[in-house]
Amino acid sequence: MAPADLLSKNYASWGRYPVACPAAVERLAWRDALPDLGASERPVLAYGQGRSYGDACLNSGGVLLDTDGLDRLIAFDRVTGRVRAEAGVTLAKLLDVLVPAGWFLPVTPGTKFVSLGGAIANDVHGKNHHIAGTFGRFVTAMELVRSDGQRLLLTPSGEHDDLFRATIGGLGLTGLITWAEFQAIPIPSDQIAVTRTRFRSLPEFLALAGAAADQPYTVAWIDALSPAGRGLFMQGHHAPGGLPAPSRFRQKLAAPFDVPSGTLNALTVRAFNAVYYHAQRRDVARSQTHYEPFFYPLDAVGNWNRIYGRRGFLQYQCVVPFADGVAVTEALLAAISAAGAASFLAVLKTFGDVPSPGLLSFPRPGITLALDLPHRGPETLALVRRLNAIAIEAGGALYPAKDAVMSPAQFRASYPDWEAFGAHVDPKFSSSFWRRVTASES
Ligand SMILES: Cc1cc2nc3c(=O)[nH]c(=O)nc-3n(C[C@H](O)[C@H](O)[C@H](O)COP(=O)(O)OP(=O)(O)OC[C@H]3O[C@@H](n4cnc5c(N)ncnc54)[C@H](O)[C@@H]3O)c2cc1C
Repeated sequence: MAPADLLSKNYASWGRYPVACPAAVERLAWRDALPDLGASERPVLAYGQGRSYGDACLNSGGVLLDTDGLDRLIAFDRVTGRVRAEAGVTLAKLLDVLVPAGWFLPVTPGTKFVSLGGAIANDVHGKNHHIAGTFGRFVTAMELVRSDGQRLLLTPSGEHDDLFRATIGGLGLTGLITWAEFQAIPIPSDQIAVTRTRFRSLPEFLALAGAAADQPYTVAWIDALSPAGRGLFMQGHHAPGGLPAPSRFRQKLAAPFDVPSGTLNALTVRAFNAVYYHAQRRDVARSQTHYEPFFYPLDAVGNWNRIYGRRGFLQYQCVVPFADGVAVTEALLAAISAAGAASFLAVLKTFGDVPSPGLLSFPRPGITLALDLPHRGPETLALVRRLNAIAIEAGGALYPAKDAVMSPAQFRASYPDWEAFGAHVDPKFSSSFWRRVTASES
């Protein structure tokens, strides 16, 4: 184990809250030359790109297995679109190979700077969830290394299908994924045809989502400080046209330092939201764009998480059932407004009913709300607890990849299969998140 790595790289999560320091880091370079995980006296956990916001990727006092060096493409069949790659490879690197060949990720989160292993362990969803479901549905095989040294080949219906289901969305707790294979989807070009429609209320948003149910990609930005829930609904599909031109969309800006806390307040955010809402002159606007700004608008600003200052921020994401979904989402927005909590980017989407293979997968049918809350101390934590309670009371669920606050009871309510999952947890693997949500409550 190498304590020196702790000095050269920052093993934080994206929200920079909570702060948790591992005792050691093991940098993995070769999938056939792994350390003896069983010999570790401390709990171990794989670390991808640290793009989880809370503590799902943290292992306070334990050992992090840094997968950055496991970043090789193993096989890519340009005819069938089957891709096999090491688990530490980023989606960005995969896209560089796939797109020029006319293929795309079957599901992608809102940043391409996540690892393949991280995408599987959180069973990520994207703008096409209502049609495609989660990333885990497209995983055809993977290798899992357990701390007893076993190397298991997991497939959806093979010998270890139960461990496959536990590892999809398994929060890195079932072992180390060394490589994975997935099915890409064909695309006619690197362009997306986009329609943006302004809406003035949540029922209007739901009507737009219903009308666009056959569109591959849908998502909405909402002004979280407007009680009615005004916003912009975006729908898109891969546009016909030629294949690329290597990526033209490059990271143009980077937040160079931590912005002093207090810069972001309800006033600045209110102004930003008003400008964003009115930037589009007509109610409906159509355009064509490269896929990068459509899928990854935040990736254009490197280290954008630093605009929230040293205290970091909390990302909040829940899903609530469609029944009463509007009223519950209104209650969430009202709680945020009442707290004067500012959020630039509040995202609203409907999840569909395509089931995930994962035992602990987060998405399920309903309305999902995601937003950033600058961390101002106890008042922010209290607000998140209020939001969590509203969502859980309504029969909803909270997303571990975005969470730093949920209680053990809220975890159990969100994930009814958690006990079945627990049977597959590797005895040497653990995380700060897992210890928090399985702690006994007094
Ligand atoms: C700007 C932004 C937008 C986002 N948008 C979305 C979105 O639209 N949808 C969505 O679902 N998520 C979204 N996310 C969350 C992000 O997709 C997930 O947190 C993702 O899992 C991060 O991957 P990572 O490689 O950074 O993994 P980390 O955050 O480092 O780790 C995440 C989990 O994966 C496990 N893990 C990592 N590698 C392995 C491995 N090789 N073997 C076993 N376990 C492993 C870790 O132990 C941990 O439990 C977004 C995040 C950001 C920053």
